[in-house]
Amino acid sequence: MNFRKKQFLEDVSHILAADYATDLAQATRKELYNAVGKAVMQETYPDRKTEDGKKRCGYFSAEFLMGRAIFNNLMNLGILSDVSDALASVGRDLNAFEEVEDAALGNGGLGRLAACYLESAASMGLPLDGYGIRYRYGLFRQTFKDGYQHEEGDDWLKWGDPWSVRVERDAVVVEFADLKVKAVPYDTPIFGYRNGVVNNLRLWSSEPVQAFDFEAFNEMKGENKAKENFDATKICDVLYPNDNTMVGKILRLRQQYFMVSASLQDILRKQKAAGKDLLQLDRDYCFQLNDTHPVIAIPELMRLLQKEGHTFEEAFGVCAKVFNFTNHTIMAEALEKWDSLAIADILPDVYEQIVACQKRLEGEGLDPEKYFIIREGIVHMANLAIYVAAKVNGVAEIHTNILKRETFKNWYELYPEKFVNITNGITPRRWLLLNNPRFAELIDSRIGTGWHTDLKEISKIKPYIADMLPAFRVIKEENKRKLAAYIKEHEGVEIPENFIFDVQVKRLHEYKRQLLNALSILYFYYGIKDGSIRDFPPTAFIFGAKAAPGYYMAKAIIKFINEVANLVNSDEEVSAVMRVVFVQNYNVSYAEKIVCAADVSEQISMAGMEASGTSNMKFMLNGTVTLGTMDGANVEICEEAGAENEYIFGATVEEVATVRRFYWPLEIVGQDPSLKRALDAMIDGTFPDETGSLKKLYESLTTGHSPDRYLVLLDFADYVRVKEELLRDYGSDEFWTKCLLNTAAAGKFSSDRSVKEYADLIWHIGC
Ligand SMILES: *Cc1c(COP(=O)(O)O)cnc(C)c1O
Repeated sequence: MNFRKKQFLEDVSHILAADYATDLAQATRKELYNAVGKAVMQETYPDRKTEDGKKRCGYFSAEFLMGRAIFNNLMNLGILSDVSDALASVGRDLNAFEEVEDAALGNGGLGRLAACYLESAASMGLPLDGYGIRYRYGLFRQTFKDGYQHEEGDDWLKWGDPWSVRVERDAVVVEFADLKVKAVPYDTPIFGYRNGVVNNLRLWSSEPVQAFDFEAFNEMKGENKAKENFDATKICDVLYPNDNTMVGKILRLRQQYFMVSASLQDILRKQKAAGKDLLQLDRDYCFQLNDTHPVIAIPELMRLLQKEGHTFEEAFGVCAKVFNFTNHTIMAEALEKWDSLAIADILPDVYEQIVACQKRLEGEGLDPEKYFIIREGIVHMANLAIYVAAKVNGVAEIHTNILKRETFKNWYELYPEKFVNITNGITPRRWLLLNNPRFAELIDSRIGTGWHTDLKEISKIKPYIADMLPAFRVIKEENKRKLAAYIKEHEGVEIPENFIFDVQVKRLHEYKRQLLNALSILYFYYGIKDGSIRDFPPTAFIFGAKAAPGYYMAKAIIKFINEVANLVNSDEEVSAVMRVVFVQNYNVSYAEKIVCAADVSEQISMAGMEASGTSNMKFMLNGTVTLGTMDGANVEICEEAGAENEYIFGATVEEVATVRRFYWPLEIVGQDPSLKRALDAMIDGTFPDETGSLKKLYESLTTGHSPDRYLVLLDFADYVRVKEELLRDYGSDEFWTKCLLNTAAAGKFSSDRSVKEYADLIWHIGC
């Protein structure tokens, strides 16, 4: 974007005067933030003309974990330092906008992936638009009280949202059997990286039909009117805070249907207005279904096309061409299954389409035990997606292989050509250029800037690694100093900056095994106390994670880690070489600060459970070694960087499969006194256990029903061994070389590569 400082400050001044009756000197931070955002929006408006007749892909997702928009937008427009300088010239500080709330309309990896894909597609000039829900409240804000998680509503619009525009003229009505709601889109531009491309994120907000559909409203009786108003706004009230678990709430189903129906109605209406044949929709559009959440789009498009006079078979044919499905997990508790009666109740016409799909499937003469969409009164959304969609993809090699071999074995045998792998990625703009600018400059100074948009080029730093080491270490130290100051201020915990920063940040889930990390810390603690571990390399163990509010064990693990932190940090003898901190309210902005300051990236899920992971990629790109299992994209990280440059431990997928059949964890505990001591701390009064949750945690690992489901105790010894090896390697030239070799090998993990693969193999756009 062409930046003229005088013009920009004038624009901001005018907006401040018109909207807030104030000026550059007097405006509050919030007013200034909105005025700056609007000034950028009006300046870039002429670029936002996306209707160039080319085929576009709609990325349908219940979650978009965008984080903070302002710095990324200014960076991608190429005006970050210009705006900073312009504001400084009138005595204002751009960094004050660090207070702006994150847009946390997502839970974790899946929602952040959607955000990276939008940014990458725009930066690669690919016509991809996001479609989702404009939740009034995003993922809850987290604090700790007595070590327990507390949740508060996330009022992400508190500072306003200058980046979105309400597009009233595109509003549509979404109908449920018992309820009609108005869907109003809010459009947010997605700026490509310095290429002038602007794609769109369209988030739908639900409102009462009232004035909008006056006739419909007048038909209603008084009581219904009140109910309608209430229910309509409730649909978009809040993001469900569950990651990798399905909650069978009707409101959730309403959210899912609401967003896909609104999106499809909007698109079909425009196609019709342009005189297009709806049966040739695939010429202009395709849709990527991000997990099963938006899969109800399939029967909805069938319904809409039949309403336009087409047959079921014709509609089916269109759907088979336009829809594609991304699977994100093999965990049974996460695969969406809905009660037939529930769907039939609130969406009878849509349910009819699902039944028609089931009938069509039956008509193919296949084994009904292997191939079904509806069975025993349950609708299996993943099966519906696989049956209809053109392509089905997993999100890392190992994950896609498990889908083919196990989870969807039968379907893979039937449709081998449908299944493809697209390994996840992250955008190198937010996850290196923006969050670690000095490291980015160091790389630029050796190999130029080509890697900004072609991350494979980053391997060119290899010959310069030895020469980059001193500067890299200075930058890492500076990032650690900044993070330590931030943690001191926000968590009240002091971390000496010369400590190793060992980090595990991600959603709290038993399969991710934060508990394994915590037990190893207790093991080190007792070892230091009794003298069996000497000269322990000074290390800060940093955690960040939110637990789903209804996930009891995850919350117990948070309590446990917070108690371990108390024990360690308040013990003078140990705290000289060890600190533990669990940061509150981990989110994208916190991740940006943490990722560039980490020395160790903990990626320790039970093999086979983590579909891909993307934080592993963020750390790698920022020059951090992985301490991890052979799971998800860790496998490919090892392939790219060389396993000798990571710290790998634990049972492989194959070993997990065998061990799990005859697993008896108490036997392992019986043979390992130091493990027993760490475990016993959960129940022997070492920690306050006000609610008894630590005891339950202990039982889940030892004596409970199917104890230690995620093989924490099985992998413990190997984990501790490799972890200690890593901590003792730390600081040598060889160690720092490994770090930079990781950065050099991160090329594959750019989401630019991922979206290009989607574009070529699945969407057939942008060619
Ligand atoms: C990248 C990211 C995630 C995903 O982390 P994983 O370790 O891959 O599960 C979750 N939350 C936030 C805020 C992120 O930035």
